[in-house]
Amino acid sequence: MEIYLDANATTPVLPQAREAALAVMAEDFGNPSSVHSTGLKARALVDSVRARARRVLGADTGRLLFLSGATEGIQTAVLSALSALRERLAQPQAPELLLYGATEHKAVPEALRHWNALLGLDLQVLAIPVGRDGRHDLGWLREHAPRAGLVCTMAANNETGVISDLDGIEAALAGSAALWMVDGVQALGKLPLRLAGRRIDYAPFSGHKLYAPKGVGLLYVREAAPFTPLLAGGGQEGALRSGTENMSGIAALGAVLAALEDGQTFRDAATLAAYRRDLAEALHQAFPGLVFNAPPDLCLPTTLNFSVPGLSSKLLLDLFDAAELRVSGGSACSAAKAAPSYVLEAMGLPAWQTASAVRLSFGPVADRAFIDEACARIRVCGESLRASCLAPQTTGEAAPADGVTRFVVEGACCYLLADAASRRAVVIDPLPELTGRIAQWLGCQGYALAAVLDTHSHGDHASSAPELLKALAQDPGEVDGLGWPLGREAIALGALKLTRLAVPGHTRDSTAYLLHDAQGLRLAFVGDTVMPGALGRSDFEQSAPLDYGASLRRLAEAVGPQTLLLPGHDYEDRFASTLAVECAVQPLLADVLGGRLDDEAFASAKAVLERDLALTRYQTVACGARVDGGGECTSSQISPAELRQLLGEPAAVVLVDVREPYEQRLGQVPELGARVQREAVALSGLPNAMGRWLSLPAETMVVFFCRSGNRSAQAARALRRLGHERASSLTGGLALWPRQSAASDAAFAI
Ligand code: PLP
Repeated sequence: MEIYLDANATTPVLPQAREAALAVMAEDFGNPSSVHSTGLKARALVDSVRARARRVLGADTGRLLFLSGATEGIQTAVLSALSALRERLAQPQAPELLLYGATEHKAVPEALRHWNALLGLDLQVLAIPVGRDGRHDLGWLREHAPRAGLVCTMAANNETGVISDLDGIEAALAGSAALWMVDGVQALGKLPLRLAGRRIDYAPFSGHKLYAPKGVGLLYVREAAPFTPLLAGGGQEGALRSGTENMSGIAALGAVLAALEDGQTFRDAATLAAYRRDLAEALHQAFPGLVFNAPPDLCLPTTLNFSVPGLSSKLLLDLFDAAELRVSGGSACSAAKAAPSYVLEAMGLPAWQTASAVRLSFGPVADRAFIDEACARIRVCGESLRASCLAPQTTGEAAPADGVTRFVVEGACCYLLADAASRRAVVIDPLPELTGRIAQWLGCQGYALAAVLDTHSHGDHASSAPELLKALAQDPGEVDGLGWPLGREAIALGALKLTRLAVPGHTRDSTAYLLHDAQGLRLAFVGDTVMPGALGRSDFEQSAPLDYGASLRRLAEAVGPQTLLLPGHDYEDRFASTLAVECAVQPLLADVLGGRLDDEAFASAKAVLERDLALTRYQTVACGARVDGGGECTSSQISPAELRQLLGEPAAVVLVDVREPYEQRLGQVPELGARVQREAVALSGLPNAMGRWLSLPAETMVVFFCRSGNRSAQAARALRRLGHERASSLTGGLALWPRQSAASDAAFAI
């Protein structure tokens, strides 16, 4: 059963609201503008829901109109206010500013900018700063209010749950002629608003944040506040908002408002606060070191926003999702980079907190059983992290790790090479962002660090080898500038052996590390010497461009065309490459290895490529000149239905779960019958298995799956690029995989 803890995003529809909506669709389907009996019944329904809304919102005076949701309510309020302000522009003491809280939902500043430009007001749009507690800076507001035409301050924040001090804001507005909009979306049903008792001019609300369906909302407009309709037409809603009313939405909203009035359906504030305490305690137990990003006593009892040192919000979301707990990242993630939360940034929280926040929110119909189940699953998530050595302050519960683990930070790769038999590990190209995580992991696994190596002195970051060794209280002994133990031919890790090969070019000290096992050369860590689709640039001060060609020939001699090469940078998620693949896409490489270019000609052709290198998509210095465009690599998708059909055919299929071990431990796997060969190879461990998959017969289908289809698509693309054409990704991942039982009613209590 799914435990849905993302109520601030949206909620399911309350059973009585569903019934009310269905009744309106099936039976009382009249148009409230019709004058016959069917229409009159519809009109009576609209009137009764409006009357209820007035009671619930404390809005016995003023206008209260139904519309499609809060975004429309915000547009209508802003258009109304700005149209009126336009009339005042020529007058003395005309307004100069439009103010909004820095943590406001994006709909507010965007609407202000949009209508300000469209109506030609050209007023200055300014964010009201908030303090560390997320509340508006009232001193700042008091100072600016006299010059403001409109002030927008939400009643409660959707990311943090921080409740605004509406009385304080009202006092700060004293003496100002500014109009005041209060976004009441997150407050509906959770805070008493007393709209008409305050000087609030506009207050938008949204049905789907409180158990009504999407597409219905409310806008309160104070009696004397200016109003301009956003939609003109048939004159519905007293000509304030034309368009035939969303009757099923209004009926459902009416049922929710009735539930708010009955005093039975929704929990009271003390009960909700007790639920939050339980959830907070479970979170603390599961994730030692966790911090809450807003003071609980100033927040809605239904919202918790937290960050865990060393754990990204992406990792936590994947983990929670595997436990069938739906939560939300406090920050929006783009494909390239997790964007920090602007709300937490406005509160002045440190960068690690703004970039790794998670929001957990429930609705006021939650009950004890639901909260207990949520707490139990949170604890299970913590156990899974401990079992993967990812939670702080743990030791030795995890199965010993073996092989290569790859970490990527903004395109830069770091590798951890571990040997379970000898309990020894080597870190290659350590990154400062990973020091804590790797140190924690090695300590927990009880592995000794045999060496911390760099493939070259990096241009874009300093090596964090000293920090890592310090964190592990380990003395590296006598080593050279890249961490290699002086006088040693090889570093042994049980049956594994690392040797090195000097490949000057990208830098004078560039070095490749070759990994050998009992069967021979297994793979090579080649730094930036050869990257997927690029050769390392050699126009740095520390580069040796004239040595590059000879280094590539030496590398080719040592590794041959098919050995997997693990790069120092991987901007396009290609994981690994081979010289054969790179020669096919990089003519310069093919020419220098094929003897068609001498070292000098190679260096000058390369210099031409590097003349105008743009920054990478992470806005960092590009470490090489891309020659294959980067984006053309296709990944074939396979739908759940196609996969089932494929399994019915006499085809060889390998199904690979690329989720990380802490998710695999918790999560569901598709039920596909005994015939299918199944593997679990986490995306971070993909290089361990790529060589094996590449040696499968060409007709064997390798199907990757994960939670949402993103990581599996990366894996499929990478394998296809290396030459195994029949590699696919399960569309939509486990999120779209048909469930055995859809216990939707059981999961209702949120
Ligand atoms: N305001 C706040 C505080 C919200 O949380 C949201 C929805 O996320 C909105 C406005 C927009 O609401 P709607 O989805 O009804 O347009």
